[in-house]
Amino acid sequence: MTIFNLGSINADHVYRVPHLPGPGETLAATSMQTGLGGKGANMSVAAARAGSHVAHIGAIGSDGIWARNRLLEYGVDTRHIAELDVPTGHAIINVDDAGENAITLFAGANQAISEDSVANVLSTGSTGDILVTQNETNAQSVAAKVGSKLGFRVCYAAAPFDAGAVKVVLPYLDFLILNAVEAKQLEQALGVSIEELDVADIIITLGSDGARWISEGVDQHFAAIKVDPVDTTGAGDTFTGYVLAGLDRGLTMGQSISLAMRAAALMVMRMGTADVIPDLKEVEAFSG
Ligand code: ATP
Repeated sequence: MTIFNLGSINADHVYRVPHLPGPGETLAATSMQTGLGGKGANMSVAAARAGSHVAHIGAIGSDGIWARNRLLEYGVDTRHIAELDVPTGHAIINVDDAGENAITLFAGANQAISEDSVANVLSTGSTGDILVTQNETNAQSVAAKVGSKLGFRVCYAAAPFDAGAVKVVLPYLDFLILNAVEAKQLEQALGVSIEELDVADIIITLGSDGARWISEGVDQHFAAIKVDPVDTTGAGDTFTGYVLAGLDRGLTMGQSISLAMRAAALMVMRMGTADVIPDLKEVEAFSG
Protein backbone atom coordinates (compact mmCIF):
# COMPACT_ATOMS: atom_id res chain seq x y z
CA MET A 1 0.00 0.00 0.00
CA THR A 2 1.03 3.61 -0.49
CA ILE A 3 0.69 6.58 1.82
CA PHE A 4 0.14 9.65 -0.37
CA ASN A 5 1.05 12.79 1.53
CA LEU A 6 0.04 16.16 0.10
CA GLY A 7 2.28 18.22 2.33
CA SER A 8 4.58 21.13 2.96
CA ILE A 9 8.35 21.09 2.62
CA ASN A 10 10.27 23.77 4.52
CA ALA A 11 13.74 24.85 5.45
CA ASP A 12 13.54 24.99 9.26
CA HIS A 13 15.78 27.56 10.94
CA VAL A 14 15.84 26.52 14.61
CA TYR A 15 17.07 29.06 17.22
CA ARG A 16 17.74 28.04 20.81
CA VAL A 17 16.64 30.97 23.06
CA PRO A 18 16.54 31.47 26.85
CA HIS A 19 12.77 32.18 26.62
CA LEU A 20 10.29 32.78 23.80
CA PRO A 21 10.57 36.42 22.64
CA GLY A 22 7.77 38.80 23.69
CA PRO A 23 6.42 41.80 21.74
CA GLY A 24 9.18 44.31 20.97
CA GLU A 25 11.87 42.10 22.49
CA THR A 26 15.20 41.32 20.79
CA LEU A 27 16.82 38.12 22.00
CA ALA A 28 20.23 36.59 21.40
CA ALA A 29 19.97 32.95 20.33
CA THR A 30 22.50 30.60 21.91
CA SER A 31 22.60 28.34 18.83
CA MET A 32 21.14 27.97 15.33
CA GLN A 33 20.60 25.01 13.03
CA THR A 34 18.98 24.73 9.59
CA GLY A 35 17.29 21.50 8.67
CA LEU A 36 14.47 19.88 6.72
CA GLY A 37 10.97 20.56 8.08
CA GLY A 38 7.37 21.39 7.29
CA LYS A 39 4.50 19.34 8.70
CA GLY A 40 4.21 17.46 5.42
CA ALA A 41 7.89 16.58 5.13
CA ASN A 42 8.04 15.56 8.78
CA MET A 43 5.07 13.19 8.36
CA SER A 44 6.54 11.71 5.18
CA VAL A 45 9.88 11.07 6.85
CA ALA A 46 8.20 9.57 9.94
CA ALA A 47 6.04 7.19 7.89
CA ALA A 48 8.96 6.25 5.61
CA ARG A 49 11.26 5.65 8.61
CA ALA A 50 8.51 3.47 10.05
CA GLY A 51 8.76 1.34 6.90
CA SER A 52 5.93 2.58 4.64
CA HIS A 53 6.05 3.50 0.96
CA VAL A 54 5.34 7.24 1.10
CA ALA A 55 4.66 9.24 -2.07
CA HIS A 56 5.05 12.90 -1.17
CA ILE A 57 3.06 15.40 -3.27
CA GLY A 58 4.38 18.94 -2.94
CA ALA A 59 6.45 21.76 -4.36
CA ILE A 60 9.80 23.47 -3.78
CA GLY A 61 11.69 26.33 -5.43
CA SER A 62 15.15 26.06 -6.98
CA ASP A 63 16.52 26.86 -3.49
CA GLY A 64 14.97 23.67 -2.12
CA ILE A 65 16.58 20.94 -4.21
CA TRP A 66 18.60 19.93 -1.14
CA ALA A 67 15.32 19.36 0.74
CA ARG A 68 13.93 17.08 -1.96
CA ASN A 69 17.23 15.18 -2.05
CA ARG A 70 17.13 14.77 1.69
CA LEU A 71 13.58 13.37 1.57
CA LEU A 72 14.79 10.87 -1.02
CA GLU A 73 17.73 9.95 1.19
CA TYR A 74 15.27 9.31 4.05
CA GLY A 75 13.33 6.84 1.91
CA VAL A 76 10.48 9.04 0.64
CA ASP A 77 9.24 8.71 -2.96
CA THR A 78 9.93 12.25 -4.25
CA ARG A 79 8.79 11.87 -7.88
CA HIS A 80 5.73 14.06 -7.28
CA ILE A 81 7.54 17.02 -5.75
CA ALA A 82 7.51 19.78 -8.38
CA GLU A 83 10.21 22.41 -8.74
CA LEU A 84 8.47 25.78 -9.25
CA ASP A 85 9.59 29.33 -9.89
CA VAL A 86 8.66 30.30 -6.30
CA PRO A 87 10.88 30.24 -3.18
CA THR A 88 10.79 27.13 -0.99
CA GLY A 89 8.76 27.48 2.21
CA HIS A 90 10.62 28.16 5.43
CA ALA A 91 10.06 28.38 9.18
CA ILE A 92 11.72 30.42 11.91
CA ILE A 93 11.50 28.26 15.04
CA ASN A 94 12.39 29.57 18.50
CA VAL A 95 12.85 26.88 21.15
CA ASP A 96 13.23 27.82 24.82
CA ASP A 97 14.99 26.02 27.68
CA ALA A 98 11.79 24.18 28.62
CA GLY A 99 11.49 22.79 25.08
CA GLU A 100 8.49 25.01 24.18
CA ASN A 101 8.44 26.55 20.71
CA ALA A 102 7.06 29.55 18.78
CA ILE A 103 7.06 29.40 14.97
CA THR A 104 6.79 31.87 12.07
CA LEU A 105 6.03 30.30 8.69
CA PHE A 106 6.55 31.49 5.12
CA ALA A 107 4.57 29.18 2.80
CA GLY A 108 6.29 29.91 -0.54
CA ALA A 109 6.01 27.01 -3.02
CA ASN A 110 3.84 25.04 -0.58
CA GLN A 111 0.87 27.22 -1.59
CA ALA A 112 1.49 26.96 -5.35
CA ILE A 113 0.85 23.24 -5.93
CA SER A 114 -1.10 22.39 -9.10
CA GLU A 115 -4.54 20.93 -8.24
CA ASP A 116 -4.58 18.97 -11.51
CA SER A 117 -1.27 17.33 -10.74
CA VAL A 118 -2.53 16.34 -7.26
CA ALA A 119 -5.57 14.65 -8.82
CA ASN A 120 -3.37 12.95 -11.44
CA VAL A 121 -0.95 11.56 -8.88
CA LEU A 122 -3.76 10.24 -6.68
CA SER A 123 -5.34 8.52 -9.67
CA THR A 124 -2.29 6.21 -9.76
CA GLY A 125 -3.24 4.83 -6.31
CA SER A 126 -5.69 2.11 -5.37
CA THR A 127 -8.47 1.39 -2.89
CA GLY A 128 -7.11 1.05 0.63
CA ASP A 129 -4.20 3.42 0.08
CA ILE A 130 -3.89 6.25 2.61
CA LEU A 131 -4.05 9.96 1.86
CA VAL A 132 -2.85 12.46 4.44
CA THR A 133 -2.97 16.24 4.19
CA GLN A 134 -2.33 19.08 6.60
CA ASN A 135 -3.00 22.76 6.36
CA GLU A 136 0.33 24.13 5.12
CA THR A 137 -0.38 23.64 1.40
CA ASN A 138 -3.15 24.50 -1.03
CA ALA A 139 -5.22 21.79 -2.79
CA GLN A 140 -6.34 19.83 0.31
CA SER A 141 -9.98 19.90 -0.71
CA VAL A 142 -9.26 18.50 -4.20
CA ALA A 143 -7.05 15.85 -2.64
CA ALA A 144 -9.63 14.84 -0.02
CA LYS A 145 -12.44 14.65 -2.61
CA VAL A 146 -10.41 12.63 -5.11
CA GLY A 147 -8.90 10.39 -2.42
CA SER A 148 -12.30 9.63 -0.94
CA LYS A 149 -13.80 8.89 -4.37
CA LEU A 150 -10.97 6.45 -5.10
CA GLY A 151 -11.58 4.58 -1.84
CA PHE A 152 -8.49 5.81 0.00
CA ARG A 153 -8.46 6.11 3.78
CA VAL A 154 -8.37 9.90 4.11
CA CYS A 155 -6.59 11.52 7.05
CA TYR A 156 -6.36 15.21 7.85
CA ALA A 157 -4.12 16.83 10.44
CA ALA A 158 -5.92 20.10 11.19
CA ALA A 159 -2.80 22.18 11.63
CA PRO A 160 -2.21 25.07 11.49
CA PHE A 161 -5.90 25.46 12.36
CA ASP A 162 -8.18 27.08 9.79
CA ALA A 163 -11.93 26.74 10.33
CA GLY A 164 -12.77 27.17 6.62
CA ALA A 165 -10.28 24.51 5.52
CA VAL A 166 -11.52 21.95 8.07
CA LYS A 167 -15.16 22.46 7.07
CA VAL A 168 -14.33 21.78 3.43
CA VAL A 169 -12.47 18.50 4.03
CA LEU A 170 -14.57 17.18 6.93
CA PRO A 171 -17.14 15.26 4.82
CA TYR A 172 -14.37 13.19 3.20
CA LEU A 173 -12.41 12.19 6.28
CA ASP A 174 -11.86 8.76 7.80
CA PHE A 175 -9.30 10.03 10.36
CA LEU A 176 -8.90 13.43 11.95
CA ILE A 177 -5.78 14.17 14.01
CA LEU A 178 -5.43 17.39 15.97
CA ASN A 179 -3.90 18.73 19.15
CA ALA A 180 -5.85 19.98 22.17
CA VAL A 181 -5.78 23.63 21.08
CA GLU A 182 -6.97 22.78 17.58
CA ALA A 183 -9.73 20.57 19.01
CA LYS A 184 -11.06 23.54 21.03
CA GLN A 185 -10.83 25.81 17.99
CA LEU A 186 -12.74 23.28 15.92
CA GLU A 187 -15.49 22.94 18.53
CA GLN A 188 -15.85 26.73 18.65
CA ALA A 189 -15.89 27.07 14.86
CA LEU A 190 -18.49 24.33 14.31
CA GLY A 191 -20.51 24.83 17.49
CA VAL A 192 -20.47 21.10 18.27
CA SER A 193 -18.40 18.95 20.58
CA ILE A 194 -15.66 16.92 18.96
CA GLU A 195 -17.36 13.62 19.84
CA GLU A 196 -20.33 14.59 17.66
CA LEU A 197 -18.31 14.85 14.44
CA ASP A 198 -19.12 12.31 11.73
CA VAL A 199 -15.52 11.05 11.37
CA ALA A 200 -14.76 7.37 12.07
CA ASP A 201 -11.56 7.94 14.08
CA ILE A 202 -10.54 11.14 15.82
CA ILE A 203 -7.24 11.45 17.67
CA ILE A 204 -6.48 14.40 19.91
CA THR A 205 -2.85 14.69 20.98
CA LEU A 206 -2.31 16.13 24.45
CA GLY A 207 1.45 16.76 24.60
CA SER A 208 2.93 15.29 27.79
CA ASP A 209 -0.57 14.05 28.75
CA GLY A 210 -0.62 11.62 25.83
CA ALA A 211 -3.55 11.30 23.44
CA ARG A 212 -7.30 10.58 23.17
CA TRP A 213 -8.80 8.30 20.52
CA ILE A 214 -12.50 8.73 19.85
CA SER A 215 -14.19 6.11 17.69
CA GLU A 216 -17.78 4.87 17.54
CA GLY A 217 -18.70 6.69 20.74
CA VAL A 218 -15.75 5.23 22.69
CA ASP A 219 -13.25 7.71 24.10
CA GLN A 220 -9.91 6.13 25.09
CA HIS A 221 -6.95 7.81 26.77
CA PHE A 222 -3.33 6.78 26.07
CA ALA A 223 -0.78 7.99 28.63
CA ALA A 224 2.40 9.56 27.23
CA ILE A 225 5.75 7.94 27.89
CA LYS A 226 7.58 9.94 30.56
CA VAL A 227 10.66 11.66 29.17
CA ASP A 228 12.60 14.89 29.73
CA PRO A 229 11.61 17.12 26.78
CA VAL A 230 14.36 18.97 24.91
CA ASP A 231 12.36 20.18 21.88
CA THR A 232 8.74 19.27 21.14
CA THR A 233 8.90 20.53 17.52
CA GLY A 234 7.77 17.82 15.14
CA ALA A 235 6.41 15.53 17.88
CA GLY A 236 2.87 15.79 16.52
CA ASP A 237 3.99 15.15 12.94
CA THR A 238 6.08 12.17 14.00
CA PHE A 239 3.07 10.86 15.91
CA THR A 240 0.82 11.20 12.83
CA GLY A 241 3.35 9.63 10.45
CA TYR A 242 3.79 6.65 12.78
CA VAL A 243 0.04 6.18 13.30
CA LEU A 244 -0.48 6.03 9.54
CA ALA A 245 2.50 3.72 9.00
CA GLY A 246 1.11 1.43 11.71
CA LEU A 247 -2.28 1.27 9.98
CA ASP A 248 -0.52 0.73 6.66
CA ARG A 249 1.28 -2.28 8.17
CA GLY A 250 -2.04 -3.72 9.33
CA LEU A 251 -1.80 -2.80 13.02
CA THR A 252 -5.02 -1.81 14.81
CA MET A 253 -5.58 1.85 15.60
CA GLY A 254 -4.79 1.21 19.28
CA GLN A 255 -1.50 -0.52 18.40
CA SER A 256 -0.66 2.24 15.92
CA ILE A 257 -1.23 4.93 18.57
CA SER A 258 0.98 3.09 21.08
CA LEU A 259 3.77 2.81 18.51
CA ALA A 260 3.36 6.50 17.59
CA MET A 261 3.61 7.57 21.25
CA ARG A 262 6.97 5.85 21.54
CA ALA A 263 8.22 7.51 18.35
CA ALA A 264 6.94 10.93 19.51
CA ALA A 265 8.49 10.52 22.98
CA LEU A 266 11.87 9.79 21.37
CA MET A 267 11.37 12.83 19.17
CA VAL A 268 10.82 15.28 22.07
CA MET A 269 14.18 14.22 23.49
CA ARG A 270 15.92 15.57 20.33
CA MET A 271 16.58 19.01 18.88
CA GLY A 272 15.47 19.37 15.27
CA THR A 273 12.70 18.13 13.00
CA ALA A 274 12.71 15.77 9.99
CA ASP A 275 16.43 15.06 10.24
CA VAL A 276 16.13 13.48 13.67
CA ILE A 277 12.90 11.46 13.38
CA PRO A 278 13.63 7.97 14.74
CA ASP A 279 13.34 4.84 12.60
CA LEU A 280 11.27 1.77 13.43
CA LYS A 281 14.21 -0.15 14.94
CA GLU A 282 14.95 2.68 17.39
CA VAL A 283 11.26 3.03 18.27
CA GLU A 284 10.80 -0.69 18.87
CA ALA A 285 13.95 -0.78 21.02
CA PHE A 286 12.77 2.21 23.13
CA SER A 287 10.83 1.24 26.20
CA GLY A 288 10.65 4.74 27.75
P1 ATP B 1 4.07 19.97 17.61
O1 ATP B 1 3.23 20.99 16.92
O2 ATP B 1 5.01 20.51 18.64
O3 ATP B 1 4.71 18.97 16.70
P2 ATP B 1 1.53 18.99 18.53
O4 ATP B 1 0.98 20.13 19.31
O5 ATP B 1 0.97 18.72 17.18
O6 ATP B 1 3.09 19.07 18.48
P3 ATP B 1 1.52 17.34 20.90
O7 ATP B 1 0.17 17.05 21.43
O8 ATP B 1 2.34 18.37 21.58
O9 ATP B 1 1.37 17.63 19.33
O10 ATP B 1 2.39 16.01 20.88
C1 ATP B 1 2.12 14.90 20.05
C2 ATP B 1 2.46 13.62 20.78
O11 ATP B 1 3.85 13.65 21.13
C3 ATP B 1 1.72 13.44 22.09
O12 ATP B 1 0.46 12.80 21.88
C4 ATP B 1 2.69 12.58 22.88
O13 ATP B 1 2.54 11.23 22.50
C5 ATP B 1 4.05 13.06 22.39
N1 ATP B 1 4.60 14.08 23.30
C6 ATP B 1 4.55 15.43 23.16
N2 ATP B 1 5.13 16.05 24.20
C7 ATP B 1 5.58 15.07 25.02
C8 ATP B 1 6.27 15.05 26.28
N3 ATP B 1 6.65 16.18 26.91
N4 ATP B 1 6.56 13.84 26.82
C9 ATP B 1 6.21 12.69 26.20
N5 ATP B 1 5.54 12.64 25.03
C10 ATP B 1 5.23 13.81 24.44
